Amino acid sequence: MNKPKKNIPVAAPDLTGNELKYLTECVKTGWISSNGKFVPLFEKEFAKFSGKKFGISTSNGTTALHLALLSTGIGKGDEVIVPALTFVATANAVLYTGAKPIFADSEISSWCLDPKEVEKKITKKTKAIIPVHLYGHPADMLEIMKIAKRYKLKIIEDAAEAHGAKIKEKPVGSFGDINCFSFFGNKTMTTGEGGMIVTDDENYVKTIKLLRDGGRDRSLNFYYHSVLGYNYAMTNMQAAVGVAQLERVDKFISRKREIARLYKEAFKNFPYLDVSPEINGFTSNYWMFSIILKPYAKLTRDELTKTLRSEGIETRPFFHLMNRMPYMHTDERFPVAEYLANNGINLPSGISLTKDDILRVAELIKSVLK
Ligand SMILES: *Cc1c(COP(=O)(O)O)cnc(C)c1O
Repeated sequence: MNKPKKNIPVAAPDLTGNELKYLTECVKTGWISSNGKFVPLFEKEFAKFSGKKFGISTSNGTTALHLALLSTGIGKGDEVIVPALTFVATANAVLYTGAKPIFADSEISSWCLDPKEVEKKITKKTKAIIPVHLYGHPADMLEIMKIAKRYKLKIIEDAAEAHGAKIKEKPVGSFGDINCFSFFGNKTMTTGEGGMIVTDDENYVKTIKLLRDGGRDRSLNFYYHSVLGYNYAMTNMQAAVGVAQLERVDKFISRKREIARLYKEAFKNFPYLDVSPEINGFTSNYWMFSIILKPYAKLTRDELTKTLRSEGIETRPFFHLMNRMPYMHTDERFPVAEYLANNGINLPSGISLTKDDILRVAELIKSVLK
């Protein structure tokens, strides 16, 4: 009888460092809510990691984006430009504030927001742009920052997928006025659920903390709330895991990059798909190593993912375009984003993948596509 083949997930966290030790400390000392030593420690260390002065932890990446937008005063009547192709949180956060997300197409070279398309979408109501570093490849921040300067717009980076990605040695999540990260379970580093905002501007820090902590300035009176706030705090337990993850994040990133290198080698000169890009001068963290099926490949995307699933190999289709969601529907067309969304697949990209796993995935794909 054949040995059953090993299941290969899309991404699984590696919690084999000091995670359990620090978590145990939280439980033993009773500091399990949002007070405790790991929260400020994680904020400080993560800010350093992203090249910013201040870190403000949040309950998840979506609440980080919501707070970032609120702290700039964006709300009803304002427009915020976001990529048509992103995870839904980017656009949802804009809607939570009462502002309107305006969608823009991607560029085929980076799969991220196309600066030329952004410029076409600017109106008198535009207040901010949220570039997303899709699947870990940096958006063209150099061009986007120029546009922001020219039109006096705020930049809120959605770096949820791009811990450690860089543009010419400068980490993403350090270009924008305010920058947001996620630590969801499948992200490059995780706290289970969790998020972080990093910035150099102390005024944002004050506003964001006030709004995060229920509208109460923690240094002042109990039960006195000066503004309508939220409860978006990270727990000490999440932060404990975060501190442990941060100790090894450089290893996680280099492993992701090695996985991408192995896939790229395996798919070299294979004409039925394109692979995750990496533009010269840009460093991807390859959060999700991905392929785009060519129209002349022998199987459709659904057929390919079904075949892979039957062999125990998990994949994900690319995100749906934002304007296809019923509550933010528009009839606009985004040719590049549409092409990517319709033909893109995230392959297994977790750091525990072995070289044999990667070759098994790549060889199977190659054998069924040609
Ligand atoms: C993961 C992610 C977020 C935040 O997600 P949470 O699950 O709320 O942490 C935001 N934007 C993008 C692009 C993401 O991939």
